[in-house]
Amino acid sequence: AKAAGKSQIAVFDYTLRAERLHHAEIAAGLRQALARDELTLNYQPVVDLTTGAIHAVEALLRWTPTDGRPVPPDVFIPVAEDTGLIVDIGRWALERACADAKRWHERHGIAVTVNVSGRQLRERTFRETVLEILTRHALPRNALTLEVTESMLLATSPAETQRIVDVLADLRAHGVRIALDDFGTGYSSLAYLRTLPVDILKIDRSFTAPLTGTDHHQARAFTKAIVELAASLELRTVVEGVESREQAGVLQQMGCPLAQGYLFSPPISSGEVDDLLQVTPWR
Ligand code: C2E
Ligand code: CA
Ligand code: CA
Ligand code: CA
Repeated sequence: AKAAGKSQIAVFDYTLRAERLHHAEIAAGLRQALARDELTLNYQPVVDLTTGAIHAVEALLRWTPTDGRPVPPDVFIPVAEDTGLIVDIGRWALERACADAKRWHERHGIAVTVNVSGRQLRERTFRETVLEILTRHALPRNALTLEVTESMLLATSPAETQRIVDVLADLRAHGVRIALDDFGTGYSSLAYLRTLPVDILKIDRSFTAPLTGTDHHQARAFTKAIVELAASLELRTVVEGVESREQAGVLQQMGCPLAQGYLFSPPISSGEVDDLLQVTPWR
């Protein structure tokens, strides 16, 4: 998984160099992006494997500069984090996602999940910002899930980590759900999970292809163990990157409740979500 990630970054680096679009240029462009209305959110369905119903949608940022081609999130989000622009961009994304989610939740009872970066979590006003946005849109708190990664919880001093955990626990006590994203790519032991204020585990997509690969016995045993342990801790599991029926079938059989991936849908516009909710395609 690590190696694949690296080679992907190398390809992006190469393309970027070819286009002479460097970190500073991305930062300069990104600084204008909000004012110029260049950012949008796409949404990817999270599907209930038992019923085929859409359980939630994950908001994913898209940036298309007015005078250029789309810049992938894996390229611009690290720059947004380095420059601190992620604080404003992240607040915009939360606001936009809650505005869109209002009608989806009212009509279909589905939740929206929003990715949050470490920079945002460390802002002293984060908790108030989240609660204020929910109140202003009259969105029930349990209609929002915040996705955090374990690396952002560990990348700082123990005192700061504790403060962030307290903020998440407080939001959770208010009804907001917390998902641990990219699970399996970091360092946390399963025992450590018990101490985190988390409702949902999202198993990284690097675990999905091996479920139907040559050495699938070990891969399945491993994923099944995570799903079962998560269930015993009263956590729900989402497996990411499900691209084939065979993978979905294997996951359903091992009792995995939720899945996300190109098999069901790529990330789509909010209008396309409205259409999809009319047809409930996987039921
Ligand atoms: P992520 O949170 O792990 O999001 C899942 C990524 O997997 C998305 O990439 C999605 O398009 C992709 N994906 C979904 N299904 C499949 C599949 O079946 N196969 C494959 N190969 N890929 C699949 P995307 O949209 O390019 O986003 C990349 C990353 O950028 C996200 O990874 C997340 O870490 C970050 N990101 C996106 N939006 C936001 C945001 O609003 N805030 C923050 N802080 N980060 C964001
Ligand atoms: Ca995510
Ligand atoms: Ca993920
Ligand atoms: Ca990720």
